[in-house]
Amino acid sequence: MATEKGRCMVCGKEKEMTGAICDLCKAEIRGEAVDKQKQIKKDAERELRKEGVKPEKK
Ligand SMILES: [Zn+2]
Repeated sequence: MATEKGRCMVCGKEKEMTGAICDLCKAEIRGEAVDKQKQIKKDAERELRKEGVKPEKK
């Protein structure tokens, strides 16, 4: 794969990278995205459990 020097959109550092974001940030974002999705699911489940006794509250 061809790598070119460019400025990372995330960390703002000039690095060799294949896209607009350097590999490090790409990996971080990917990890964060997964974590966030997990967190969102967890939060949603928690909310459901909190109100879970009566599914139709209103
Ligand atoms: Zn970066």
